[in-house]
Amino acid sequence: MTLRKIAQVGHPILRETARSLTREELASDAVQGFIEDLVATMRDAQGAGLAAIQVYEPIAICAIEVGDNPRYPYKPKVPLTILVNPIIEELGEERFDNYEGCLSVPNIRGLVSRSMRIRIRAWDRDGNDIDEEIVGITAGTYQHEVDHLNGTLFLDRVTDSKTLCTWDAFKRFYEAEFAENVRAIVERVGS
Ligand code: ZN
Repeated sequence: MTLRKIAQVGHPILRETARSLTREELASDAVQGFIEDLVATMRDAQGAGLAAIQVYEPIAICAIEVGDNPRYPYKPKVPLTILVNPIIEELGEERFDNYEGCLSVPNIRGLVSRSMRIRIRAWDRDGNDIDEEIVGITAGTYQHEVDHLNGTLFLDRVTDSKTLCTWDAFKRFYEAEFAENVRAIVERVGS
């Protein structure tokens, strides 16, 4: 297992479109070993998710996991999830404002509009089909990670640049209110 370097905003690889994998490629030692590296790198950097493209591998894999995360104390927990060749379909019109950050965008957060309900279709790391409905804050995390595989950063989706802030400013001025909004969403939709 190797910790990988994380590409930072401005690096052209973050704007590439990730290549889909075949089941044979996914089953290979190289890709299974890469998934171990991706998860270890995400955990080491205290990310809620990490896409392969962020560690200079433009293949359609991302990892998501939310435990007791000091970067995101208000986020509902998500067990370790590996998405391979994921496709998101937005369900319904409802949206919510999500304060996002990114391991590829150091020390900046901003408010992004996300779909409240999505359908995710993907494979897990063993090539089994995933077809689930994901809601709320967790749906926001899924949308952020799958965006990376299409060369999109959360910065591209910030509609009001006045919401951009450092992590320190977020904690001082916005976290309390946002955490309250998160609690309300989790109470209402369950995640
Ligand atoms: Zn990100």
